[in-house]
Amino acid sequence: MKGLVTKSTGSWYTVQVDSNATYECRIKGKFRTKDIKTTNPIAVGDWVEIEMEPDQQTAVITKLFDRKNYMIRKSVNLSKQAQIIAANLDQAFLVVTLASPPTSLGFIDRFLVTAEAYDIPAGIIFNKLDLFSDEGLEILQEYRNIYENIGYPCFQVSALKKTNMEAVQAALLGKITLISGHSGVGKSTLINSLVPKVALRTGKISDWSDKGKHTTTFAEMINLDTAGSIIDTPGIRELGIIDIEQQELSHFFPEMRELMHNCRFNNCRHINEPGCAVLFALEEGEIEPSRYDSYLSIYHGNDSRS
Ligand code: GDP
Ligand code: ZN
Repeated sequence: MKGLVTKSTGSWYTVQVDSNATYECRIKGKFRTKDIKTTNPIAVGDWVEIEMEPDQQTAVITKLFDRKNYMIRKSVNLSKQAQIIAANLDQAFLVVTLASPPTSLGFIDRFLVTAEAYDIPAGIIFNKLDLFSDEGLEILQEYRNIYENIGYPCFQVSALKKTNMEAVQAALLGKITLISGHSGVGKSTLINSLVPKVALRTGKISDWSDKGKHTTTFAEMINLDTAGSIIDTPGIRELGIIDIEQQELSHFFPEMRELMHNCRFNNCRHINEPGCAVLFALEEGEIEPSRYDSYLSIYHGNDSRS
């Protein structure tokens, strides 16, 4: 039987075969992901083949179908290994807040670069709109301008007061969406407001993330009755950019990607080269300084996780 992995605990996988049949499965055999070492062979969002065990209660996964994409994060313990967070995503949304707690532009940019690198359309949900002062709203508008000008859809909502949630719902329609964000930004509140029937999960999820047990948490797919599916990533704070070469990095900044072919040198790093079209655009104000700072920071391998 062919099915979709909707949940994983690391040793057991929940596989949905059709709308009312799910099986708890173990893995049989070895599954390798091309080009990277991973700590988990199979992830939420994977399509797999399963066979029933003789007990007729549980099943084993015997085959992994090709993935169209996947999101990973660095393994906390083994720097060369990665954990696949989820596979076969249609899009990934980052939930951010400008205050309590603030999400840095550097963190947003890292998320977007990761999504670009894995070919996953990304968007940003600015939450806690109800807390914004006039000044806060101005900053929000500036941030939206930065990202909308590059082509990333932005939403501004209050998950708590259910303000502007229709736009988010419309964007989720018919898609599998990964929802990510720092602990405390209101991810659980947002998900619960989209899926009232899982309202009881809030406590559990925030307990997990608050205690920082992010090494043992896994993603889970939640079917929205009318509006597609979301993949929740409890406790996952950072997404890893582990297999991007320095010279590839500018490809994952859409505003740089468009300009690069105008640089004098075709191996331009866009750092201090003469005739660099990116540096020229930066001077002209066509590239946001914060975006360029993120480029340099990722280029030099600085870790900015906050
Ligand atoms: P998570 O860690 O990202 O899942 O965040 P939670 O959903 O647990 O929310 C963290 C805190 O922020 C809780 O106290 C929520 O009530 C609060 N919160 C979530 N969304 C909003 C919002 O839109 N406005 C306000 N004022 N508070 C919010
Ligand atoms: Zn250049």
